[in-house]
Amino acid sequence: MKTIDKIYINGEFITPEGTEYFDLINPTTNEQLGKVLLGNQKDTQKAIAAAKEAFKTFSKTTITKRIQYLQNIQTSIEKRKEEFINVMIEEYGGTKQFATISYAYMLKGFESVINLLDTYDFTKTMGKSEVQMTPIGVVGIIIPWNSSNVFICSKLSTAIAAGCTSVIKPSEMSAQQTQLITECLHEAGLPKGVFNIVNGLGEIVGAEISRNPDIAKISFTGSTNVGKIIAKEAVNTMKRVTLELGGKSPNIILDDANFSEAIPLAVIAAYMNSGQACIAGTRLLVPENRLEDVKKIIKEVLSNTIVGDPKNETTAVGPMVSAKQYERVQNYIQIGIDEGAEVLIGGLGKPEGLEKGNFVKPTVFVNVNNQMRIAREEIFGPVLSIITYKTEEEAIEIANDTTYGLQAYVSSSDEKRAHKVASQINAGRVQINGIGHDPMAPFGGFKQSGIGREFGIIGLEAYLEPKALIR
Ligand code: NAD
Repeated sequence: MKTIDKIYINGEFITPEGTEYFDLINPTTNEQLGKVLLGNQKDTQKAIAAAKEAFKTFSKTTITKRIQYLQNIQTSIEKRKEEFINVMIEEYGGTKQFATISYAYMLKGFESVINLLDTYDFTKTMGKSEVQMTPIGVVGIIIPWNSSNVFICSKLSTAIAAGCTSVIKPSEMSAQQTQLITECLHEAGLPKGVFNIVNGLGEIVGAEISRNPDIAKISFTGSTNVGKIIAKEAVNTMKRVTLELGGKSPNIILDDANFSEAIPLAVIAAYMNSGQACIAGTRLLVPENRLEDVKKIIKEVLSNTIVGDPKNETTAVGPMVSAKQYERVQNYIQIGIDEGAEVLIGGLGKPEGLEKGNFVKPTVFVNVNNQMRIAREEIFGPVLSIITYKTEEEAIEIANDTTYGLQAYVSSSDEKRAHKVASQINAGRVQINGIGHDPMAPFGGFKQSGIGREFGIIGLEAYLEPKALIR
């Protein structure tokens, strides 16, 4: 049993004033791993005060110095690869495959921000004026549990690059992962107060960050519902917000696609991170006259998709993060059945032999129409809905008929045609014939998938306030 009873404020690990503990449960076995002592409102205020004080000097640091700090963090993270991967598997239930990719993304976050700093011009000429891109102030970083340290690294690295200081509130379910990254950040030797990390509940620590007038900007990743609560609160003090929210990503397989490549890829897109991914391609749009082929291929692929212990190299789908998340996914499978969709594969209950953990049967529904709740709402588990279309125009219409717009996927053997279709989809990112990440391209959502963008120049500028000097 591990007890995490420290938070990180002003360059030190300190005991929070909060007295409430939260149990850390292994999602693979539902055994208790440990507990974390949660920070409260006062702890959050202390962290914000430390960040505010540090901003006075950190905002004036040179780019060379910021790059040095970013490199120091990278070096500390590089030393503890195995620990990062193992703690993500143990505490979150992330598969070894996913935890390994996540670890690489943590480092890539720093690399791409350093590259950006090498070329970004903080002083520009616009019209006749000099425009200075100035650090925005203290940033509140609020993140979910589904890739905790990747989010900390990408948001914090951008804040540091911009000359901002931060208060970070991870999910209380990620406390061991947070402890490890905090140790690395501490080792990197940044000035005190530049980053502060408070474990705690959303309604307490997150709410104080959203409310506090000394926070200039919030960078939030999480559900659309919580994003709305934060944005409403933030407007009272006119905080800038970047909101990375939910998704219900369409995956259009055009009739000329190579189905034996596109369908296995669609399964990966749907079940990545055990389905707990905002960018998961959960609506698979296929030509009506090819449905039988699709069913056949998908059955084959699923028969080789291993569900089980996330420690195993070959496991593709691990447990849901918590019993609550398991119940949520079960509830959606039941809703799909009640709505009249047909379970092609999977269904209710736990896979045989995996009764102890929060394992869900990877599920594929057919006979789904786009008005059903399983096609409209984010499930956040390994549940895929297959929807048929008759024409390309109809496929695009169905793809866009959603309140979300985070990511989309298009497959075709004709690159030009795929490009034309991709250009008509209302989503922040559209993947053509594959699944990739470009850390220099903007990431974020249309519609209720969010506000603003992360990564690259657009992501950096979200942490900067332009000031025009007119002569
Ligand atoms: P969540 O919205 O419940 O929680 C996210 C964070 O917000 C947590 O740290 C939580 O404690 C905090 N929070 C909760 N209530 C709050 C409040 N009232 N004020 C301030 N903070 C509060 O999300 P989750 O369940 O942890 O994660 C899953 C969700 O995250 C999914 O909807 C998923 O789509 C989304 N997500 C989006 C992206 C993206 O980049 N767009 C990436 C990953 C996950």
